[in-house]
Amino acid sequence: MENYFELKLKSISENEKFARNTVAGFLVPLDPTLSELDDIKTAVSEAVTNCIVHGYEKVENGEILIKVETSGNKAKITIIDHGVGISDIEKAMMPFFTTKPDSDRSGMGFTLMQSFMDDFEVYSEKNKGTTIVMTKLIGNEGVHD
Ligand code: ATP
Ligand code: MG
Repeated sequence: MENYFELKLKSISENEKFARNTVAGFLVPLDPTLSELDDIKTAVSEAVTNCIVHGYEKVENGEILIKVETSGNKAKITIIDHGVGISDIEKAMMPFFTTKPDSDRSGMGFTLMQSFMDDFEVYSEKNKGTTIVMTKLIGNEGVHD
């Protein structure tokens, strides 16, 4: 079955848990394993946190857009901010790369998203914002191991 939803959220850390639980809840009908749900929750959480702490660091009323589309056993999750953007995406995606080493960031967000999801893409433009598109195949547990 095909299905979708969209969610617009104020960019505050209080909304991170709501975002990840809402996406996970929407995907329950696809019958994911607990481990698949955990992977998705972690990926959403990392992406939303990035919008808040990086994209909208200096913005009071930033807006985060989350879109989820399902088709068969495939879940496509898109997370968009209209914040500062990323000038060098390749560099930003390297493990342990962070522009905030002093504020407890480990630079592993993108690496986690990439390893927990089956497909992962980043689009970004300086001062326009960042779009993360990630896909997870539900019920494929073990196939990639
Ligand atoms: P961690 O996720 O481990 O707490 P981090 O957020 O710095 O640390 P990543 O999530 O891998 O690590 O992101 C790497 C870098 O990419 C960030 O330090 C930041 O410079 C940039 N970045 C990531 N997401 C965004 C975004 N939505 N807007 C602007 N810059 C971003
Ligand atoms: Mg991060």
